[in-house]
Amino acid sequence: MGCDGGTIPRRNELVKVKQKPEPRDQTSHLIFQWRYCNLTQQLLQRPIVTCGLGKLYNKSAIIQAIINRESPPHIRTLRDVITLNLTPNPEFRENGTDQIDVSPYICPVTGLEMSGKYRFVALWSCGCVFSERALKEIGVGACSRCQEAFDEADVVVLNGLEGEVRVKMDMRKKRKKEWRKIQRIKKVRVGENLQ
Ligand SMILES: [Zn+2]
Repeated sequence: MGCDGGTIPRRNELVKVKQKPEPRDQTSHLIFQWRYCNLTQQLLQRPIVTCGLGKLYNKSAIIQAIINRESPPHIRTLRDVITLNLTPNPEFRENGTDQIDVSPYICPVTGLEMSGKYRFVALWSCGCVFSERALKEIGVGACSRCQEAFDEADVVVLNGLEGEVRVKMDMRKKRKKEWRKIQRIKKVRVGENLQ
């Protein structure tokens, strides 16, 4: 500012120019969701995990939270999260936050950046991450990256809408319950055969 030494202040020093905050807010919201741990707000660094609700966390932060009994209610053990198998973006340089316009990860099929601009999904069965567009092309069955079998319940939309991710989480819970029931029946049958 130049009012003390006899210099004349310029107009932009006197009049506050009104800024348009909307696009920047939206961008910072996406950066926050996709680049930072949902628990500690620290930069995401592999190994990265997701919970049943599709939020992203540093695995170390989740382990610490479980030990300290400070984890969110839907994460009680490490079985409540999956480690993500992410595809690094060759355009991205690992030097902190300065490359904020380039995403560190991409879809291995379409090459789309995982930045929040496109919907991305993780498979609960294997942890592989794809753009939703790629998954629609591949269809449900075997993961095109690691060949692990998966069905509709295994598809977790990352940073998805609360309703859609909860439906899948409930589907997986139900499936697990049924699997346990079958295991119990099998045990009883084996026991009967031994008698
Ligand atoms: Zn896979």
